[in-house]
Amino acid sequence: MSEESVTQAAGQSKMEKSDEEWREELTPEQYEILRRAGTEPPFSGAYTYNKDAGMYRCAGCGADLFSSDDKFESGTGWPSFTTPAVAEAVELRPDNSLFMRRTEVVCRRCGGHLGHVFDDGPGPSGQRFCINSGALDFGAAGAAGADSRPSG
Ligand code: FE
Repeated sequence: MSEESVTQAAGQSKMEKSDEEWREELTPEQYEILRRAGTEPPFSGAYTYNKDAGMYRCAGCGADLFSSDDKFESGTGWPSFTTPAVAEAVELRPDNSLFMRRTEVVCRRCGGHLGHVFDDGPGPSGQRFCINSGALDFGAAGAAGADSRPSG
């Protein structure tokens, strides 16, 4: 009778955990952002000025979300990207909280809140993905665990 907690969507398995499980697994800061749609103070996050090459993954589920190739300095105090690394990895939802009309960016796999997207970006897409450092887990290119297929 019980629903499978793992469902297939867009070729990716969804991850569903109880609030209690998330509380145990995430740091208080990660929990506040990912599960309660919190926002870290500007210029406070670990990745605002990170210029290393690599992949920004979801701190909740590890899904590849944003690439350093698409990161730019927005001056806002939050990591900013012109596009997700994998379009299907994120889900956009209307967010009319706090008397603003914004578009929320959510991790499709675990439903974690990542940040918001605005239409004043510098790239061809015109989009600016304004993402909390605390929702991300950066993996440097070439580091252990990253793309380490044998070459040649
Ligand atoms: Fe996630």
